[in-house]
Amino acid sequence: MIEKKHINSFEDMLGKENVYSDKAHLIAYSYDATRTRFEPDAVVFPRDEEDVCRILLYCSNHKIVVIPRGAGSGFTGGALPVSGGITLAMEKHMNKILEIDEKNMVAVVQPGVINKDLQNAVEKLGLFYPPDPASEEYSTLGGNVSENAGGMRAAKYGITKDYVMALRAVRASGEIIRAGKRTIKDVAGYNVAGLLTASEGTLAVITEITLKLISKPKYTKAYMGIFSSVEDAMNAVFKSLSSGANPVAMEFMDSLVVKALKEKLDIELPDGAGALLIGDVDGNVPQEIEFQLETLKNSFKENGAQDFIVSKDQKQRDELWYARKNASPSITIYGSKKLNEDISVPRSMLPVALKKIYAIGEKYGFKVPCFGHAGDGNIHVNVMVDGSNEKELEEGHKAIEEIFKMVVELGGTLSGEHGIGLSKAPFMDIAFTHAEMELFRDIKKALDPNNILNPAKMGL
Ligand SMILES: Cc1cc2nc3c(=O)[nH]c(=O)nc-3n(C[C@H](O)[C@H](O)[C@H](O)COP(=O)(O)OP(=O)(O)OC[C@H]3O[C@@H](n4cnc5c(N)ncnc54)[C@H](O)[C@@H]3O)c2cc1C
Repeated sequence: MIEKKHINSFEDMLGKENVYSDKAHLIAYSYDATRTRFEPDAVVFPRDEEDVCRILLYCSNHKIVVIPRGAGSGFTGGALPVSGGITLAMEKHMNKILEIDEKNMVAVVQPGVINKDLQNAVEKLGLFYPPDPASEEYSTLGGNVSENAGGMRAAKYGITKDYVMALRAVRASGEIIRAGKRTIKDVAGYNVAGLLTASEGTLAVITEITLKLISKPKYTKAYMGIFSSVEDAMNAVFKSLSSGANPVAMEFMDSLVVKALKEKLDIELPDGAGALLIGDVDGNVPQEIEFQLETLKNSFKENGAQDFIVSKDQKQRDELWYARKNASPSITIYGSKKLNEDISVPRSMLPVALKKIYAIGEKYGFKVPCFGHAGDGNIHVNVMVDGSNEKELEEGHKAIEEIFKMVVELGGTLSGEHGIGLSKAPFMDIAFTHAEMELFRDIKKALDPNNILNPAKMGL
C-alpha cells in the first residue's frame, strides 16, 4: 500500500482529475479478461510522454511499482497489479493518431489508440493495418505491441511485430528510448523495438508507436473446407500452404466445436463434418482470388475434404464466418469453465499435436474442444471443467501442464498470442532453460534495476 503523500505528489504532478484512489476506480482497474482481481493503490492517467517520464522517475526514486495498462483485455493477467502500486492507464489522454504518412505508408500513434480506430482511419485512405485481434474493437495498440497480438489475418499478413517499425518508450529511470526508424531497412544498433515488443510492460512504458501500413486489397472472398476428421483438416493446413496457397486466414474448428455450434446456437453445418477450415482469400484482381480458391480447393480435396464452399457475396461471407466467430461461446455445453490456452506448434506438427491433446483430455476425463488459427499453427485449446468443483479445476490444470510439455517437445511454444503474464508464468520452466531465464532476468535488470515495472510477470 503506497503512502498518501505519494498520491498527493501524483496529484500535484498531473492534477487531481488524473489521479484516482477511490474504491470504485480501484475496483474498476483491478480486472482484466482473466477475471482475476488485484487492486492497485491508485490509477494514474499521464497526459503525455513528459508525464510518463516524471511519474517513472518519481516511482524509481520511491520504489513504487508501476503497471502499464491499455484496455485491460489481456488474457494472462499482464495488466494486473499483483502487489499493488500504481496503474498507469494510457486510454484517457494518450489515445491519438499522431500522423498517417501516406507517402511512406506509416502511421504514428500514441499507445492508447484502439486497434480498430487505426484500421478505420487508414482504410479511408486506401491503406491497411492488418493485425486484427478479436479484441480489435477495444484493445489498444500499446497493449497489442506489448503482447505482440495476432489475429485472424495472421496467416497471410503476420502479427503485430511484423508492423512495428519504431517505438518511443520510457525506461523505469524516466529516460526516453527511441528505438527503430521510419525506414524499411535499419540495421544500426540492437533491435530494441523488437525487444520491447511482447515485453508485457516489464521493460519500459511505450509512449509512441510507428507502424507499417500496406495498401488495402480490393477483393475478398470467404471459403469453408469440410473434412470428416481432424487429422485430414490438419494435414490440409500445412500441405495447402506449402503448395502455394496464401489465404488471409485459415481458421480451424474441431468436431466438438461443430457439435456445440449445432446444439447451442442451432447453426446449420454439414452432416458428418468432423472438422472445418474457414478463411478468406484476398487480392487486387479477381483472377488472384480465383487462383487462390482453386489452389485451396485442389489441395483440400487431395487431403480428404468432403466439400469446399465459397462465398458468393458479403452476406454469404458473414454466414461462413458466423460459425467461427461463435466457436468460443458455444463450447460451454461441455463445462461451466474453460481452461483456455493458445498453444503454438510448427504447422506440420498440428496433426500429431491435436491427437495428443485429445488423448490427454481423455486421460483426465475432460472434453477438450479446439479451434483457432491453424494457418499459423496457433490453436486455442479449451479444457472444459466444472468451475465449481475444486478437484476438477486442479485436474484441469494438470492436464494443461501436460499439454504444455507435449507442445514444447514438438518444438512449439506456450503462447502464440496471449502472452505469459501471470497465468502462464508457472510454466516458463517447461519452455526455457535456467540459463535462458537468467538472460531474461539480466535484460530486465538492465532496463529496470529496481524491478518497479510490472514485477512478478513472465516468471521473472
Ligand atoms: C474477447 C477477447 C478476444 C481476444 N482476442 C485476441 C486475439 O485474437 N489475439 C490476441 O493476440 N489477443 C486477443 N485477446 C487478448 C488481448 O485483447 C490482447 O492481448 C491485447 O493486445 C491486449 O491489449 P490491451 O490494450 O487490452 O492491453 P492490457 O490488457 O491493458 O495490457 C496487456 C499488457 O500490455 C502491457 N501494456 C499495455 N500498454 C502498455 C504500454 N503503453 N507500455 C508498456 N506496456 C503496456 C500491460 O502492462 C500488460 O502486460 C483477446 C481478448 C479478449 C477479451
